[in-house]
Amino acid sequence: MTDQVSLRFLGAAGTVTGSRYLLEFNGRRVLVDCGLFQGYKHLRQRNWQPFPVDPSSIEAVFLTHAHLDHSGYLPRLVQNGFHGPIYCTQATHDLCKILLLDAAKLQEEEAFYRNKHRYSKHDPALPLYTQEDAKKALELFEVVGFSNPDDQKPGISRGEVSVSFYPNGHILGSAFLDVILAGRHILFSGDMGRGNDLIMPAPELPVYCDYLVVESTYGNRLHDPRLYKEQDIWDKTAKIINETVSSGGSVLIPTFAVGRAQAMLYLITELRNKKMIPYLPIFLDSPMAISVTEVMQRHHRYHRLNKDRCQQLSRDVTFTRTVEESMALNSLHMPAIILSASGMATGGRVLHHLNRMLGDHRNTVMFAGYQAPGTRGARLVAGEKKIKLFNNYLDVRARIEALDFLSAHADYRELLSWLQQMPTAPKRCFVTHGEEAASDQFRIALNEELNWSACVPDMGDVVKL
Ligand SMILES: [Zn+2]
Repeated sequence: MTDQVSLRFLGAAGTVTGSRYLLEFNGRRVLVDCGLFQGYKHLRQRNWQPFPVDPSSIEAVFLTHAHLDHSGYLPRLVQNGFHGPIYCTQATHDLCKILLLDAAKLQEEEAFYRNKHRYSKHDPALPLYTQEDAKKALELFEVVGFSNPDDQKPGISRGEVSVSFYPNGHILGSAFLDVILAGRHILFSGDMGRGNDLIMPAPELPVYCDYLVVESTYGNRLHDPRLYKEQDIWDKTAKIINETVSSGGSVLIPTFAVGRAQAMLYLITELRNKKMIPYLPIFLDSPMAISVTEVMQRHHRYHRLNKDRCQQLSRDVTFTRTVEESMALNSLHMPAIILSASGMATGGRVLHHLNRMLGDHRNTVMFAGYQAPGTRGARLVAGEKKIKLFNNYLDVRARIEALDFLSAHADYRELLSWLQQMPTAPKRCFVTHGEEAASDQFRIALNEELNWSACVPDMGDVVKL
């Protein structure tokens, strides 16, 4: 029997989206993460290219977490023949139920819209996948418990492959994976959270590995070091809100429905309870973020808020689920705080609020988290004064703030100090999930500061392990 193991990078190479890592050994194949490409059009078009290997030849998928750039290609994989199990934690499964069905619905709506307005070069325009495909994918999910570094027990064992899931502090249910394959340990960081997140516990310590696949979203950046302390986060956010309210404006927070929305809700309700900001109405205007908040309330063991504090969110915040409730916010004549998805202002209800609020200098738009290049969020944060919305160009007069200290990603200093706790240096590190400059800087930091052998793989690269 040959004992060849190879790792193929099918996404998140030179970019932050489309995480897909294929492990091949002795004629067998498993996939770690199965994400959508997002952001620039040339990246999104990759979702339409044929999968590089026959999906029916992959025997299992292991998911680090639910974000669509890690899970959102699963329904397409299933549509094209994959029929094996998809292993993940309970909370990841619960979140995927919400995210994959929603992604499918958006795909269907977009195809319908394109056909109705004859926008598409393709006739008829088709969705990447349907709600039916998403449901079929969800039927393949199998839940695995978190492992404990002390007991070394694998979460799932399938003959020569065993995989342990360890909490990594990024979002509810997220994990770094220790994949053991033909005697080799391969650690996939997933998206690494931080030691001082408002609602997530700190990541578990890294375990021994021969090979490391590590993310580098913030591989060349530090979160504002003055804002490492929780008190500073509260002070800065309160200051922005108070200044906005005193000029008679409202605050709009474009937010990622999964993770950041809940952290922001906690932060803002806490500010109001501590009387650091006036008693303003707070609205969560995103059906998906509302559903995710409910999942969080069910899984209070996996985050830092106790059961009561978690339930309290539903009392302190008005959840606007229906379109009518959302539209009623347009005629609100008092300062308010509105949280709405999507977090990079690429779609969703937040666009309607931006349309109404961007032109008024009294308002503030407060971004919380990573803004991928090319997105409307990145343009606004960069200070662009004209923004395209619903086929119109809009003058930006509102104040724009970016609270990157609320990011769910570790910065490079935090990543390095997490990695330094590894029992021994890996034989080789592969730096992925970052824009080119970020990944390259992080590769250099691994080389120079830890003296580890690291490289940045290109899309499609195959390495022998
Ligand atoms: Zn993520």
